[in-house]
Amino acid sequence: MAKIDPHSYYDNSQPKITSFNLKAKIDFEKTKLFCKVVLFFEKEVTGTLRLDSRDLIIKSVSYEDGSPLHFKVHPKDKVLGNLFEIDFQKPSKSAVIEYEVEKDSTALQWLKPEQTKGKQKPFLFTQCQPHHARSLVPLQDSPSVRITYTAELTVPSDLTAVMAAGASEVLEDKDKGEKTFCFKMPQPIPPYLFAFAVGRITSKDLSSRSKIWAEPEIVEKAAYEFEEIEEMIKKAESLFGPYEWERYDLLVLPPSFPYGGMENPRLTFITPTLIAGDRSLVSVVIHELAHSWTGNLVTNLNAQHFWINEGFTVWAERRIVEAIYGVEASVMAYAQGFNALKSAIDRFGENSPFTCLVTNLEDVDPDDVFSEIPYEKGSLFLRLLEETVSRASFDRFIRAYIEKYRFTSIDTKELCSFIEAHFPNLLEKVSADKWLYSPGIPDNCPKVVSSRLEFITNLSSGFKFGTYPTPEEIASMNPSEKLVYFQGLPRVLNTEQLDFLVANFNLKEVTNSEILTEYLIISASSDYEPAFPQTKAFLSEVGRMKYIRPIYKAMGRNKRTREMAREIFEKTKDSLHPLSRSVIMQEIEKYEKDE
Ligand SMILES: [Zn+2]
Repeated sequence: MAKIDPHSYYDNSQPKITSFNLKAKIDFEKTKLFCKVVLFFEKEVTGTLRLDSRDLIIKSVSYEDGSPLHFKVHPKDKVLGNLFEIDFQKPSKSAVIEYEVEKDSTALQWLKPEQTKGKQKPFLFTQCQPHHARSLVPLQDSPSVRITYTAELTVPSDLTAVMAAGASEVLEDKDKGEKTFCFKMPQPIPPYLFAFAVGRITSKDLSSRSKIWAEPEIVEKAAYEFEEIEEMIKKAESLFGPYEWERYDLLVLPPSFPYGGMENPRLTFITPTLIAGDRSLVSVVIHELAHSWTGNLVTNLNAQHFWINEGFTVWAERRIVEAIYGVEASVMAYAQGFNALKSAIDRFGENSPFTCLVTNLEDVDPDDVFSEIPYEKGSLFLRLLEETVSRASFDRFIRAYIEKYRFTSIDTKELCSFIEAHFPNLLEKVSADKWLYSPGIPDNCPKVVSSRLEFITNLSSGFKFGTYPTPEEIASMNPSEKLVYFQGLPRVLNTEQLDFLVANFNLKEVTNSEILTEYLIISASSDYEPAFPQTKAFLSEVGRMKYIRPIYKAMGRNKRTREMAREIFEKTKDSLHPLSRSVIMQEIEKYEKDE
């Protein structure tokens, strides 16, 4: 027996689950799920089967003929959850489990009507990556296991259920005031891609294979923002091969969603903060779309190789961006990414093992060490390989890689042997071991530059010496360039400098949430009072960790902003997603004590 994932009780001597059929009644009054799942195994199970679960209330376990199976739910491990053992006295290829999911399941966020745009109906959504599927379904919650499933979700009849799966029929029970939405997921997925949402949502078609789901109040705005989705899919197909998931739909979640997007197959989940009104933040959707190849088709064997999922996807995202918007757009994206990488390395310390691409996460909760490092350092490593062998050769390699490993999960060793077979000695030539197993940014990191980028960064570094951009220079910058400009500014500015930025970059009305976040970080560090109302409003609404964490961190620099941060957090903590709540709590705990 060998355990191949530090975050799962699964070991490879045990038969894998190949599929499950789930029935779940979603009760908004009790904020509970009442579930029955039939698990199907690749071969007959005898003896004890070890499954992952977390905080599930297991009611019964039986064979499909109804005869009971003995089971034991072990006390909860902080990282792995509850080991759930089933004893098969006679061999079986399936098992039936009845259980309940309670309100504080780590995979769920239940929203009250006032936390939605329409403020009329409650909302529920899941977030299973990296290891929260076990908080919804007892299974082998490791990306090394791929499963297909069917699901029937029963919800109040005034709500709609959507799922990262193919939709089939909807059955209505008028007497009970309930609807049952039926789904089927024929493509095998790692458990972290299991996803659904329930709310007052409607949809609008974007193309023959794509639609946007959102609350009625924002569906038109969202449809405008992501209207170019079909072109993005076609460009991605021309680079990486056919789209294998049939539909590509998008779901706009309420603002508490903790991530920018989640690449749930067939139905990407996105934060409403991407709706800038000018399509300036669509690269997040391109990123989630790129996961349809890099990640959802070929993913990491376990979280220690997460860079295989995200590094390839950032690299792929920027190739699509380049193909659609031109090389300058991808240069700006790499520049923003490099700034994010430096901040992440600062956060851990440059010698921290968590800044390696391959990490040792034994006894470490992957949520605690989530960062931009696997994304940005990973994409730069792949860019280095691409630059070394030529784009044409690397593109052929990527196609072969996806073709060979589609619908599987691999580790870095497997990837390296595939690279070595294609490009003998390439790994040694680029000092791949340094990239993979050493902390920090290696010396041979590719420099992604252009004269436009140089102009913007020079303009930005001149600011602290009193060289302010002219109105013409500001007007010539697109939102992505403005973001690079802001990222290059010192974190602490004086009132006169901030007044200039507010007036000339129209920061009181800025709709691009990336630029707004940079402004709020600088103004918080600078104790700049005119920004306080915007800071309060933003932090009271948005839960995206990428934004709120650095703002709260910056608020720790001054007594006044510390007080404001504590006050806002006290008011908003119950409406934050548990993940966002926990990272903000950690930031506030690091604050100096004020009396
Ligand atoms: Zn991603």
